[in-house]
Amino acid sequence: MHNELNLHPNIPKFLAQPKRMLINGQWVESTSGKQFETLNPATREVLTKVAEGDKEDINCAVQAARKAFAEGPWSRMKPNERSRLIYKLADLIEQNADELAQLETLDNGKPVRESRYVDIPSSCEHFRYYAGWVTKITGETFPVSAPGNFLNYTRREPIGVVGQIVPWNFPLLMAAWKLAPALACGNTIVFKPAEQTPLTTLRLGELIQEAGFPDGVVNIVTGFGETAGAALVKHEDVDKIAFTGSTEVGKIIVGEAKGNLKKVSLELGGKNPNIIFADADLSKAIPAALAAIFFNQGEVCTSGSRLYVERKIYDQVISAMTEAIQKIKLGNGLMPSTEMGPLVSEEQLKRVNDYIEIGQKEGAEIYVGGLQSDETELSKGYFVKPTIFTNVDDQMTIAKEEIFGPVLSVLPFDNTDDVICRANHSTFGLAAGVWTKDVSKAHRVANALESGTVWVNAYGLTDAASPFGGYKQSGIGREMGSTALDLYTQIKSIWVNID
Ligand code: ADP
Repeated sequence: MHNELNLHPNIPKFLAQPKRMLINGQWVESTSGKQFETLNPATREVLTKVAEGDKEDINCAVQAARKAFAEGPWSRMKPNERSRLIYKLADLIEQNADELAQLETLDNGKPVRESRYVDIPSSCEHFRYYAGWVTKITGETFPVSAPGNFLNYTRREPIGVVGQIVPWNFPLLMAAWKLAPALACGNTIVFKPAEQTPLTTLRLGELIQEAGFPDGVVNIVTGFGETAGAALVKHEDVDKIAFTGSTEVGKIIVGEAKGNLKKVSLELGGKNPNIIFADADLSKAIPAALAAIFFNQGEVCTSGSRLYVERKIYDQVISAMTEAIQKIKLGNGLMPSTEMGPLVSEEQLKRVNDYIEIGQKEGAEIYVGGLQSDETELSKGYFVKPTIFTNVDDQMTIAKEEIFGPVLSVLPFDNTDDVICRANHSTFGLAAGVWTKDVSKAHRVANALESGTVWVNAYGLTDAASPFGGYKQSGIGREMGSTALDLYTQIKSIWVNID
């Protein structure tokens, strides 16, 4: 079945053996000997088995990371050498892009046209961006007025051993977002991919070794959140946790990290408002609103899941969107023509289907889409139809909670103040969109939105150079750009008496 879809020749070989974990430069089984299966969400077929790491394995990985931080060649490496290693890794990702893209699609379900042209190239860009930073991470000098004569300067030093935990929606890209700045700043890492999608991270581990990173600098422990993830968060010799995932788990992490007061940065959920004013260029706003919710099956923390449309263009926007939705091609992500793949797992399918039922029960109307019938070919996988709800009230569950699937609420609004207030009426504050030709209004609304990112006449863009993170319960800290350097360095102030 796989080969009918022209799989890259390395993939069957890669999947043929159960996958091990990377600890201290060695590929090892879990201490318990346990393994778990990872599935193809388009077919529910088992792709391979993966070592199930837990507390013991996390402990070994943390020890390896500590040793590499304290003693290894990594700690003595010159910035330009560290930079070259990160550039080399980016080159290797690029050279293996076709294979990585297919592997990502097999494990996550997303269309290969997205994994090949978004996830993998963006991962390369991310490593390159931070490879460039390595030789530019500097301190400052300060004109202190303390009595005496002092040179006061700061050094930006690595934090130490960093634990990183990521979700399953952009497995390789999330690994790049986490690893690239942490490596650039000179930390060592214990990385835990999501249990649903470990494969591209494990392939990345091979490329990390091929690039020549010293042993123990990047350790990869595969396993479940409640065991391996929790052990990493609680570990007293981990200096920092960087997490991307649900707000629910983010709150658990804040609690569990307190033992040794490790630093915590979090990139969490969103219920993002996308606002179309009547004066917007609808030829751009409508396709962007569709992509905002249906890209990556809606499994995106920045997805534009609350679409606010000015009342006088509401019917026009809904009918144009409905027409476009009928044409979205659902299918196995490995087919080049597929525009939307399955959700990642049985659990996620149930979660999204439950939200669709809750929406109906609370009185919202399915305008298009709805539950997938069991009889179709697609019921072999975890597919959900692109779905639009109308007659939605801001207080309904589907308008408040993050669904993480292709389910959109379209809500009419009457004026600017009304929509700002409703857009901000959320515990989240990750991202927002504003569509208008009125420049003043665009700026006024962008300033008023309580959101870590606002796109004006655009939606969904991220770039390695631009800070990214959440207001309110959408997170703590800013990844990307120079701001990520703050997450992975600590500042030391040095006073030198020059009297
Ligand atoms: P989702 O609900 O989208 O699967 P989660 O926030 O549950 O997102 O998972 C994101 C990542 O967090 C995954 O790698 C998962 O294994 C991990 N995780 C889940 N629960 C915990 C926990 N209690 N402690 C640490 N990591 C966890």
